[in-house]
Amino acid sequence: MSTAYLSHPACRRHDMGPGHPECPQRLDAIEDWLIVHGMDAALTRVDATEVDLRTVELAHTHGYVAELADLLQSLASTGESRAVDPDTVAMPHTWAAALRSAGAAVQATDLVLDRKASNAFCAVRPPGHHATRDQSMGFCFFNNVAIAARHALDNRGLRRVAVVDFDVHHGNGTEDILAGDDRVLMVSIFQDPLFPYSGAVPKGTNMVNIPVPPYTRGMDIREMCEAQWFPALEEFRPEMIFISAGFDGHREDDMGQLGLTEADYEWFTLRIMDVAQRHARGRVVSVLEGGYHLGALARSVGAHLRALAGV
Ligand SMILES: [Zn+2]
Repeated sequence: MSTAYLSHPACRRHDMGPGHPECPQRLDAIEDWLIVHGMDAALTRVDATEVDLRTVELAHTHGYVAELADLLQSLASTGESRAVDPDTVAMPHTWAAALRSAGAAVQATDLVLDRKASNAFCAVRPPGHHATRDQSMGFCFFNNVAIAARHALDNRGLRRVAVVDFDVHHGNGTEDILAGDDRVLMVSIFQDPLFPYSGAVPKGTNMVNIPVPPYTRGMDIREMCEAQWFPALEEFRPEMIFISAGFDGHREDDMGQLGLTEADYEWFTLRIMDVAQRHARGRVVSVLEGGYHLGALARSVGAHLRALAGV
């Protein structure tokens, strides 16, 4: 079994306009890195399928899904675009991309549970962790990780899953959806204060939130995770671990001011895999969130994938 790498050309066609940091070139930069570093031998490439809307409704309200489907399908047919918040633009290709992004996370979950892949990474956009139960925001429409986590629990019968979020921004959408669901433990670290200005006070007892000030360095972040994340994960004994893999905490990424490097992303990955090995038969599904400095993003995803694939 190898590491599955899920993506789809539709994820590239969602384009929020010139100069927008959450751009199609993010996926190109990752792809180039994989080619230059000969990673294809270590990965099994999978074209992501479209998500089933009934599965989306395990994480989002029926009303939200119906309203978003209406809007995005109408944009797809008229060719128009519309801002859904000051940072987030829905355009004609957004619907197809959103279906494939959430579809990738769900399909990756199935591949890993069915032992067709040892673990999986979804190179997808739009990202998901700011999408709440009933609201698009912060470049996100469907909460890919929350949908996949609920799929693992509700459709596949797992009893406990963990979500690890190391994006520089607080995963407020994932917290909104999963807080209070005692089948889930979510652990996260994020810069505070920073968009979306939440997370300092967790919304549920199943949330381990670590807000850190700007300019915190990797070694300090590792220490905080060792003290707070990993004891909670060991005690929870997740049967599967989902990663909201955002790389915008990299020191070269000016979306935030954290000091993470490729070595820190490798460390996160190996430590998470170590927990998964003990409690979850190694089952890890990682889904791309942020990461906006193209070079740092590609190198960091590379370090993450090398760790996942063991090469
Ligand atoms: Zn982010």
